Amino acid sequence: MPKFTVSKSALKRKWIAGEKDFSLEGETIFCKPCGKQFNFERKCQLEQHKKTTVHATNIQKQGNKRQRLLSECPPETGERPSSFVNDLVAVMLQEAIPLQKLDKETPLRKFVEKYWESEAIPCVKTLRTKVAPATHFQVIEKIRDEIEDSPIWCSVDETTDRLGRNMVNVIVGKLSGKSHSVTNEMLERFGMIDDNMCSFCGNEIETIKHVVLECPASQLQREELLKEITDHSLQLFNLDTLLATGTDPIHCALFKFLSAINFKV
Ligand SMILES: [Zn+2]
Ligand SMILES: [Zn+2]
Repeated sequence: MPKFTVSKSALKRKWIAGEKDFSLEGETIFCKPCGKQFNFERKCQLEQHKKTTVHATNIQKQGNKRQRLLSECPPETGERPSSFVNDLVAVMLQEAIPLQKLDKETPLRKFVEKYWESEAIPCVKTLRTKVAPATHFQVIEKIRDEIEDSPIWCSVDETTDRLGRNMVNVIVGKLSGKSHSVTNEMLERFGMIDDNMCSFCGNEIETIKHVVLECPASQLQREELLKEITDHSLQLFNLDTLLATGTDPIHCALFKFLSAINFKV
C-alpha cells in the first residue's frame, strides 16, 4: 500500500471542521472560549479538552459576555411621559440642546418648572431613556428630508455605552458646497454641476491644488499666504506640506487665504 503523508495542519483542520469554538493557526489549534493555543498531537487530546470544566466554564462566560443588541434589551416600563414632556425633549434634540441643560437647578429647568406646574418634569436620565427614543425616528426622518439625494460626507466614531454595548456615533452632512470646501471638480464629479472649470480664472479645472497653488486670479492673496507661512518657517510651499503640517497657524493662514479669495468655506 502506498504511504500517504498528510500535512499536520490539514489533519488538524479536519479535526476542527464544523467546530465554531476552534480555529487553526499554523499547526496549532486555538480555542476561542479559552483564548489559548494548544499543540494537540492527537484528536483524542482535543476531545479531552472539550470535556474539561475549564473549557465548559469559558464557553459559558463567552455566552454571557456576548454583547446584547439594543432589540434584546428589556423595554423601559413606567408611566408614559406627557405630550408636553415629549415635545420639550423633541424640540431640544432638534435644536441640538443637550438634555443635560434640564438637569437639577439649571436655568432651563427652573424656567420650565415655573411655567409648567401641572406635572413634575422627569429627571434627565428618564428623559434620555424613556422620552428621547420616541423622538429618535422623527429626527432621522428630518435628516433624511434635509439630505434627500445629495452626496454626503460622514464621520463615524465607535464607542461603548454604559452597558458595554458597542455604539457608533455618526455625523452626516450634505456635500453642498455651501458650508464646506468643495471644489467645482468635486461637485462636477458628484453630478451637481456641469462645469468643473475654476470659478476664479476660468482657465483650469478647479481642484484644491489649482485654487491654493496655481490660480493666477488669486496671486495677490497667495503672496500674503506665502509670507505668513514663511513666518512660521514652512520651507516648501506645496499642497502636501501645507495640509500635512497640521499646525494651527498654517491652517489659519490657509483658511484666511480661502476666505480672502471668497472660496466656498
Ligand atoms: Zn477550551
Ligand atoms: Zn483658477
